[in-house]
Amino acid sequence: MRRTRPFIAALAVVTASAVAPAIATAAPTAAIGVEDGVVPAGVSVFDDSYPAVSRLDGTLLTALRSAAVVARTGGVTFVVNSGWRSRAYQQYLLDQAVITYGSLPEARRWVATPATSPHVSGKAIDLGGTGAADWLDRFGATYGLCQIYQNEPWHFEFRAQATMRGCPPSYPDPTHDPRMR
Ligand SMILES: [Zn+2]
Repeated sequence: MRRTRPFIAALAVVTASAVAPAIATAAPTAAIGVEDGVVPAGVSVFDDSYPAVSRLDGTLLTALRSAAVVARTGGVTFVVNSGWRSRAYQQYLLDQAVITYGSLPEARRWVATPATSPHVSGKAIDLGGTGAADWLDRFGATYGLCQIYQNEPWHFEFRAQATMRGCPPSYPDPTHDPRMR
């Protein structure tokens, strides 16, 4: 999910407005925060103090950390832009995507529903960091870390078979993923 930073900025505005009674109109998103999986900039895959990291599936997290240790020796750091998300956070992101892209079908090319998102089940991570995507493209399969969608090169999931056979072919976008139906 590439819009994390603007989202946090927007959240700060919503939170600020929520304490000013004159403009405290319905702002359910003010309730979404770190406990829902929101992360500030620069969180590492080793930082268990954020539910976005600590609530990831254990297999995915172990693979990520193994890869991150090796990547770091080459000067590459994995940054968590998004990991585990609560259902409420996922729904918020979907609602925002509908606004951004103009329709639910178009939004779902980018953001899954709370029922289908692998972020909600803790089985997906969106990584940033200089060189991280390139490093994972070259070495990620060794750790079972695979890019799943061609339109989301930052989104990774664990695929056990990848350690032996390489990552499976990626989908053009999430609407081609049978799990999303
Ligand atoms: Zn993702």
